[in-house]
Amino acid sequence: MDTIRRILADNLARVESRLAEACRRAGRSREDVTLVGVTKSVPASVAAELFALGVRALGEGRPQELWRKAALLPADVRWHLVGHLQRNKIDRTLPLAHRIHSIDSVRLLDALEATPGEEKINVFLEVNCSGEANKQGFGPEEVRQFGDHLRTLSRVRVCGLMTMAAVTEDPEACRPTFRHLRELRDALRLTVGDAHPLNELSMGMSGDFEVAVEEGATCVRIGTILFTGLPP
Ligand SMILES: *Cc1c(COP(=O)(O)O)cnc(C)c1O
Repeated sequence: MDTIRRILADNLARVESRLAEACRRAGRSREDVTLVGVTKSVPASVAAELFALGVRALGEGRPQELWRKAALLPADVRWHLVGHLQRNKIDRTLPLAHRIHSIDSVRLLDALEATPGEEKINVFLEVNCSGEANKQGFGPEEVRQFGDHLRTLSRVRVCGLMTMAAVTEDPEACRPTFRHLRELRDALRLTVGDAHPLNELSMGMSGDFEVAVEEGATCVRIGTILFTGLPP
């Protein structure tokens, strides 16, 4: 386990220094960006090591895997669901998830709103900014017209918008996508008023997180580069 911890610590230090540098370039504070360690590709034991190294927020792509890891890790992990939530998995996921990043349909939004309970359900609306047909999420035009509907929600709290940029070799190519998401968020905030905070942006992954931070990301979702070099 010692080796694993050392490799993770090295990887994390590199990510932290790149994050700090991106924040500095953007004139932002490092505290304004949450690093979500996306642990979907590693076992619970490795996720636990990452948490022990100080990464308080961990992300999973599939609800069942989030449930499984949540049962094995300390209770103070802040779990983020970054992948699709099926409606029949809502009940088991809600008590565990600090944020759901992947609200991709009105049906899902309304199903969450209809769940019993007092506590707010903190979500991001996933937006398909890059227009790829194989991607989940609302179209930008849909989001623009969403204000009226969002104002009717009380159980669900929309923290912000989330997107995945198209996979590319050149992170700069993602900048227009991230900028677009920020502009959409700003526009939506104007129509929604005080009904939802809409002060967060979940964007940026291993290949493009620095550009995302420069464009205002408050949450970067990083997997691959935290786990490179681990023994198989
Ligand atoms: C897997 C995943 C990530 C992490 O991606 P990496 O490229 O491994 O950093 C981030 N967001 C979502 C939605 C994912 O599914």
